[in-house]
Formats: sequence, C-alpha cells, structure tokens
Amino acid sequence: MKAGVEYHNGMRAQIWVHQPKRFGTALQYATGSKNHNVRLREMALDKGLSLSDQAFLREDQTEILCSTEEEVYQQLDLPWIPPELREDRGEIQAALKGELPKLIEVKNIRAELHCHTSWSDGQSSIREVAEGARKRGYKTLAVTDHSPSIGLVNGLSIERLQAQRKEIEKLRKKMGDTLLILHGVEVEIKADGSLDYPDDILEWLDIVIASLHVSIRQPRSQVTERLLAAMRNPHVDIIGHPSNRMLPDREGADLDWDAVLKVAAETGTALEINANPRRLDLDDAQARRAIEMGVRLAINTDAHHPDHMDFLPFGVATARRGWVTAADVINAWTPKQIKEWLKN
Ligand SMILES: [Zn+2]
Ligand SMILES: [Zn+2]
Repeated sequence: MKAGVEYHNGMRAQIWVHQPKRFGTALQYATGSKNHNVRLREMALDKGLSLSDQAFLREDQTEILCSTEEEVYQQLDLPWIPPELREDRGEIQAALKGELPKLIEVKNIRAELHCHTSWSDGQSSIREVAEGARKRGYKTLAVTDHSPSIGLVNGLSIERLQAQRKEIEKLRKKMGDTLLILHGVEVEIKADGSLDYPDDILEWLDIVIASLHVSIRQPRSQVTERLLAAMRNPHVDIIGHPSNRMLPDREGADLDWDAVLKVAAETGTALEINANPRRLDLDDAQARRAIEMGVRLAINTDAHHPDHMDFLPFGVATARRGWVTAADVINAWTPKQIKEWLKN
C-alpha cells in the first residue's frame, strides 16, 4: 500500500506499507539511487531474476522474499553497500572486489577545529565553547576567530589576538588535560592573495585556517592563485570552506580544482568539509577526488554557538558520500597526533 501526504510547508512524502518479510526489497528500492538500482536490476536479470520493491521474481513466477537489505545484496553475491555510496559511481565494482571503504562515522570525530567566539562574530565565550566541545566528548578544540579585514565580524587586531591568548591560557589551566585548546584564527585570504596577518603572527598561533570570503567572483586563475598562495604559506594548516558557496543560491568561487587539490597534497594542507548545512563545502565529489589525491580533510562545524557543533552529522554525511574514511580526517585524531601534524 502506498499513500502520499503533503505537509503544511509544501513538502511531500510517501508512506509505503510492506509486510516485514518484504521490507528489505522495499527499503532498498526506496533508498535508490535510480542509477544504482538499475545496475542491481541488471545483475538480477543475469541470474534470471527480476527485482522489484516487492521481491525477486524467478522465471517460474515464484518469489524470493528479503526482509533485510543485506539479503537483497546477498542474492546478487554482493556485500551490503552503504546507502551513501549507492550512486553507480564505482561502488558495485568495489563491492565485487571486496574493496568498499570503511566510511567515517560521527563517533570517530574527536576534535572541532573551526569555531568562533564572542571575541569576533560568535555568540558565546571561549569557556562556553570549550564546555560544548568537552560535553560532546571531544579531546581537541581550536578557537579560530576572524581576522580584521573581512569587516562586520569584529575581527581581531593583533593586540586583541594577544589578549585572547591570555584568556585561553587561563582556561587551559582550569580545564587541565581534559581538553587540548588550540589558539588559532580563521585568517582572511585578501583580494590580492595576501593573508591578513604577518607571518610571525601566523607562526605564533597554534593552528591557522585560511579562508576566502571576499572577491570570490574573480576570474578562475586569479581566485585559484589566491588559494594556492595561502596553501604555500608554511603556517597555513587548513583551508576553510574552500569554495565559499552558500546553499541554496550562492555559487562557490570558480576554482581550478585540479590545481587546488594538487597543491593541497604537495603542501600537506588540509581541506575542510564545512558541516554547516548551508555550506557543505567541500562537497562529496570534491572530497572524493581530494582523498584519491592524498589530500587530508578536516570536518568542522564552523560553530558560532556551541549548539552549532550539532551540525557535525551533515559534514560526516558529505564525507561518507565522498568515500571518506576516518584515516583521511584530522578531526578523528588524538590531541597528540594533531600536535605532531601541526609541527610539520
Ligand atoms: Zn569563514
Ligand atoms: Zn568560520
């Protein structure tokens, strides 16, 4: 039985009711994607079976019922394939070879490396953000407020950055070794490609995220060159929300991704998957290309309030769609591993 409903906000949903013994085929069918399911149906046909949301049907019209998705895949001699990979983008071949990736999970994340406090445009004190991180079981938090040139976000002058360090040091004493608090910044990559703090300040900071926010409509070569220059600065550790797109309608910068990924790999700069649901930047396809080229990823929520750390599952879901494993993501590391990585 199927029924359609329309919510007050215009969103539509379908309710399918199936017997438990047919639930596996129904769930697999409804999950899709279409391209993935077309491939499965072809594989079924090769075995003389037709696959529908109800069952596998043999040529003699008898049915094979599947109460779980695992049974559906088993009929086709495949291991269960995680829904995020079901796009016919190589997952069936990988499954046949036993080479499906072990996708990253929310529980693997032990660090938030991009957040803002009331020192710039965040809504909470450093202590509140740190408590939010600790409450979520994180072992590392990087406080990364804005640099001044972006405007309107109360970016930190060098003097205020130094005052912020004093507050962080006090908090470190209070929190002991329950949480490694890194003092960082989200430094602006200015329109001319230079960074918004001098090198000695960047070196003094524990961690540096460099981000594009302004002049993102520059021609491809110019805007790409800004990112490349930032990555080549030895003090820059992470590129935040690399394209600076904003869903649903602000397109990201017109970047030459081949060049960006190549230089990220060469310089050991991590690229961020920004987990804010309006960003999801890198996207899944870019994340997949990045890890194929040996680029490290960071999954950060860019929290402007501790509650925003709850955006994490959106970033992890984007990573999973990009075939990303925990080994690819610096936020899955221990404080010791993160400190080692920052030294290099
Ligand atoms: Zn930003
Ligand atoms: Zn930010």
